[in-house]
Amino acid sequence: MRLTIPLILLLLSGISQGIEVELSKKVLKLGESLEVKVKGIEKSGNYICWLNDSPYPLYWLNANTLRTFIGFGAKFKAKTCSLKIEEVQGTFLPKYEESNREKRSIYVKRLADALRTETPTQLWTEDFVWPLIGRISGRFGERRFDQNGTYLGIHQGIDIIGKTGTPIFCSNNGQVVLIGRFDLEGKVLVIDHGQGFVSAYFHLSEILVEEGELVRKNQIIARVGATGRVTASHLHFGLYIHGTPIDPLYWLPKDTTKNVK
Ligand SMILES: [Zn+2]
Repeated sequence: MRLTIPLILLLLSGISQGIEVELSKKVLKLGESLEVKVKGIEKSGNYICWLNDSPYPLYWLNANTLRTFIGFGAKFKAKTCSLKIEEVQGTFLPKYEESNREKRSIYVKRLADALRTETPTQLWTEDFVWPLIGRISGRFGERRFDQNGTYLGIHQGIDIIGKTGTPIFCSNNGQVVLIGRFDLEGKVLVIDHGQGFVSAYFHLSEILVEEGELVRKNQIIARVGATGRVTASHLHFGLYIHGTPIDPLYWLPKDTTKNVK
């Protein structure tokens, strides 16, 4: 089932008149993202956008337009939303609630922090590419259970089937922020694309880049594997906006054959 959420622009406060707010959508589905553009503010200062109680950083797109993307993740409970724009002092970083798993392990927190990387320069371009061509065996938003029927949580990415050793392509331009190995995720590669966009590649057999390295779209960065908790070799590909997992299918081309060389 696809959840939807209607957005209602209720209030703009703390800003003078003549400000225009543009939303890419009025109704959001689970896993989709909303683009918010704010026009009519002269380029100076730092601004944030509140969606109900959650703050998001706004970045300058050009001389008089601020922009941010907001992911509608599975944890989002509100039925309708209000938006508010506010000027802030200094650099703004969103605040996060730690998951129970993070609270138990500093090691897992390292991965969670990487997925919430927030850097001001946009490295990504709008055309993300498929990191691997193959059958999709797991979709975003599915409820997951283990063999005993214990609820594991909501699937926060897509699973693409591939044989161990198959090359994985970088989905967009960015910088490697984490290479690690974790119990569930196996060998992991996390790439920061700038302005809150982060991609993650799990269950790898081999990683071909280093932490801190700048990577380009279509570059071979890793190989498919079966590390971590898996039943067969595949790539788990996750996309995050300001730390919220979103459905990569909304950002990947519809045609899977033309986009990976
Ligand atoms: Zn997965």
